[in-house]
Amino acid sequence: MARRRQIYEGKAKILFEGPEPGTIVQYFKDDATAFNAQKKGIITGKGVLNNRISEYLMVRLGEIGIPTHFIRRLNMREQLVREVEIIPLEVVVRNVAAGSMATRLGIAEGTRLPRSIIEYYYKNDALQDPMVSEEHITAFGWAATHDLDDMVQLALRVNDFLTGLLLGVGITLVDFKLEFGRLYENDEMRIVLADEISPDNCRLWDSKTGEKMDKDRFRRDLGKVEEGYQEVARRLGILPEAGIRDVKGPEQMQ
Ligand code: C5P
Repeated sequence: MARRRQIYEGKAKILFEGPEPGTIVQYFKDDATAFNAQKKGIITGKGVLNNRISEYLMVRLGEIGIPTHFIRRLNMREQLVREVEIIPLEVVVRNVAAGSMATRLGIAEGTRLPRSIIEYYYKNDALQDPMVSEEHITAFGWAATHDLDDMVQLALRVNDFLTGLLLGVGITLVDFKLEFGRLYENDEMRIVLADEISPDNCRLWDSKTGEKMDKDRFRRDLGKVEEGYQEVARRLGILPEAGIRDVKGPEQMQ
């Protein structure tokens, strides 16, 4: 079977040329990295779970009118998405102090923030994704002011919706990272949500016990990493029926 052309290999995903022009296949790997890839490992079944979780969340967000790149899930590890021009920013939304914000500002992890706070990081591995301000973003042309306004509005709507959805299944949405892309259609450009939304890029804590169910289990060697991701999928009602067993590789698809 013909192999598809690989466009890009990232830390957690591989992108292949899609079946139609303007589409891309996202393949979810089990590879996990942390601390700018200084720590590497495999979380068995993570790709299968993240593919499902991200599909579910993107579809739900689409239903409330958030534009996303998601088209449909193809199989256990792959989903079809629209080809977009990725804006080189990581947009982080925080509701509770944790991670780098807790460290940087000396706020105890778990402290609820007075309001949701948005931060921007410049996507650049060599520079270790430095935090930047709106000034840097517009001055260096990574995004125009109106694009940034769209991203902020979308990020806040995503935060509101996901906070409620997750709270309904006993999960606190502590913080998360979004990426956006420019989608060109009929001479028009729209900013859409891209990449993935999964326990790889969200902090998800059990609302009652505070137990972590996200990549911090890997980052901080807390153990039961797979179980954390599985529990998120289970609570969302989307744990794959066959479990996370998955023998298919990208070259065997289609
Ligand atoms: O590490 P930090 O506290 O800044 O991370 C904030 C949020 O952004 C976390 O949910 C983390 O998983 C996510 N993040 C990410 N990719 C990065 C950095 C952070 O998904 N490169």
